[in-house]
Amino acid sequence: MDSCVRPEALPSLPAWEPVAGLYIVATPIGNLGDITLRALAVLQGAALIACEDTRVTGKLLKHYGLKARLQRLDDHASPETRARVIDEARVSPVVLVSDAGTPLISDPGYRLVREARAAGVTVTSIPGPCAAVSALAMAGLPSDRFLFAGFLPVKDKARLETLEGLAGVAGTLVFYETAPRLERSLLAIAELWPMREVAVARELTKLHEECRTGTAAALAAHYAAHPPKGEIVLLIGPAGEDEAPVRDTDALLRAALAEAGPGKAAGLVAKATGIDRAALYARALELKGE
Ligand code: SAM
Repeated sequence: MDSCVRPEALPSLPAWEPVAGLYIVATPIGNLGDITLRALAVLQGAALIACEDTRVTGKLLKHYGLKARLQRLDDHASPETRARVIDEARVSPVVLVSDAGTPLISDPGYRLVREARAAGVTVTSIPGPCAAVSALAMAGLPSDRFLFAGFLPVKDKARLETLEGLAGVAGTLVFYETAPRLERSLLAIAELWPMREVAVARELTKLHEECRTGTAAALAAHYAAHPPKGEIVLLIGPAGEDEAPVRDTDALLRAALAEAGPGKAAGLVAKATGIDRAALYARALELKGE
């Protein structure tokens, strides 16, 4: 979407009396139509927009016929730069945006928000696109409980250790991923959790959007044959009833089985570890039969 939106073609923006403070504004993750009217009103009224890359934000503003003073503010910004932005937010509306999506979600902004709050500056979040949430909404994996864990480590050993550390999470795991690393991550998941349902959500809100689900091994085979392009969210469903619990939990289950029946033992260990109770119950029955 390269053409500009004529300001008169926009629906009327909500009335917004510019008020001093720091505004965290979500911007599109691909489709420029995905921006709220409130976000546009706040961008229009901002005295200063702090952004990761002035060229990227400049293009977004141009698309909507908006003009503003831009200030680069990324993870390498000095404490003095943040302090200047915070000082300005005491007296005028200052916006923080990232290149795409919701600032602070695998994007800069954490220090700025923390320091602004500590300085007594009002911080307001103007919600909108976030790739992790969009992927979760469309993948068909359990969404009542999920853990967003940013990017997986690049090195094989560290990646495996990170995944192992998340084995006990009783919810869907959500990661940001890059196209060149997707296959190796899927192979690592296949090794650890061959039965779990995995989803790859790619190019969300863009022309070639896709969301593919299956076991990690099947998805690794697919992407080996069709190398992926673009931006990716990788999701791993929680342990199913048929997944053998991680080995250390056997010791906990045995100890609990010495005192109680399989149901109660599974309940106790589930409470202690956060592991799915049904999977523990199945394992408790196996251990009792040994
Ligand atoms: N703050 C952003 C958000 O709210 O989603 C995320 C920024 S993070 C630096 C960039 C990563 O987000 C990409 O590498 C990709 O994993 C994911 N991402 C961003 N846009 C995406 C899209 N349109 N489709 C799939 N994943 C996307």
